[in-house]
Amino acid sequence: MQYLTFNDAMRARFGTKVYRLSLQSGCTCPNRDGTIGTGGCTFCSEGGSGDFAAPLLPIDEQIAAARKRVDAKISPSIAPADRRYIAYFQSYTNTYGDSERLRSIYSDALAHPQIVALDLGTRPDCLPPEMIAMLREIRTKYGKPIWIELGLQTIHEKTADRIHRGYPLKVFEDAYRRLKSEGFEVIVHVILGLPGEAREDMLETVRYLSLLTPALDGIKLQLLHILKGTELAREYEADPFPLFTLDSYCDLVVDCLKLLPPQTVVHRLTGDGPKRLLIEPQWSAEKKRVLNTLSRRIREA
Ligand code: SF4
Repeated sequence: MQYLTFNDAMRARFGTKVYRLSLQSGCTCPNRDGTIGTGGCTFCSEGGSGDFAAPLLPIDEQIAAARKRVDAKISPSIAPADRRYIAYFQSYTNTYGDSERLRSIYSDALAHPQIVALDLGTRPDCLPPEMIAMLREIRTKYGKPIWIELGLQTIHEKTADRIHRGYPLKVFEDAYRRLKSEGFEVIVHVILGLPGEAREDMLETVRYLSLLTPALDGIKLQLLHILKGTELAREYEADPFPLFTLDSYCDLVVDCLKLLPPQTVVHRLTGDGPKRLLIEPQWSAEKKRVLNTLSRRIREA
């Protein structure tokens, strides 16, 4: 079966492979700082989401350090000057905070000649009008796309409560509509395997996303990882819930991909949790085997 991979979409759009540089904006998360909650989403590992004990470096320095890490894996046949990157602010809630401070950080990233897009991970309840206006302005100024990644995880309110997501579906719907009407590209995160959800519940989430109008720009499918030190790990230890095998996960991913509109870019098929924190599923630590199995199953579908 066919689906639109991240690499194919980037090649078609930017004429070359594009690499994500993981950068930090210094934002916190309202689900951790007490505004909405203090414990965060039950699956979220504080250390795994970023560590702000370290001082926040200027963006140029962050870009240089991230490039060093990413460039080590790029074929020397691509000259350093020809490489293209996405400034990816993943950890915590990157539209939560002072919009002028963030304007300066994101402008510095967009001004870099080899950065082709800005990619911000955030929550749909952290997109006030002044933040959207600021992002619109810098998008126009630098003439580069801005992607907004929303951590929805599930459309089911019961699960959302259980994982302490901290907002109802209607907040996502409102943010999605506002972002799309302002011309932003939206990528939605979905976690497959959340406690209490059956396979059909997960497919319902993907089906709902595939029917959004205007159509969803991108999706990240993420296997639920149970990580040490999280509320979810405590919950699992006290009362284990069913987890995917590699086989059953591949079956579900294939069924999810079948639902998506052809123009939706699939940014991720599984995700990888930090190995040192991973409790379950242990098979997910064998990244190569997982990706090979997934590709084969998708090819055969
Ligand atoms: S998953 Fe995102 S929204 Fe939830 S606690 Fe972690 S950083 Fe905050």
